[in-house]
Amino acid sequence: MNKLRWRVLLNYWPNITHINDLGSAEDLILHPAMTKSFMRPHLVLQSEESCRECEYFHICKGGCAYEAIVGTGNRNRKTKFCEVYKALYGQIKSDLIAIGKKPQS
Ligand code: SF4
Repeated sequence: MNKLRWRVLLNYWPNITHINDLGSAEDLILHPAMTKSFMRPHLVLQSEESCRECEYFHICKGGCAYEAIVGTGNRNRKTKFCEVYKALYGQIKSDLIAIGKKPQS
């Protein structure tokens, strides 16, 4: 893992120095960093008008937090690859419709 990834990871998980520090699945889900990460979609919606209006927010939620930090320095902003995500979701939606499936909305 490169230095930037470690820095981002430690930003989320400041008390974790080894994978064994995570403990059980219950410890993990109750860890303050996890609680914080679950709040990210709500914080993205507050800071990104385009996400609020986006038809793909229910599946995208602003994209990858790591990409947001690298691209903007702020984990609560949308991913710098927003247009790529939109294109991919649009293509998947078209493909689903073409085979007679109804995409989730
Ligand atoms: S595709 Fe772009 S605008 Fe839509 S939810 Fe994802 S990041 Fe936000």
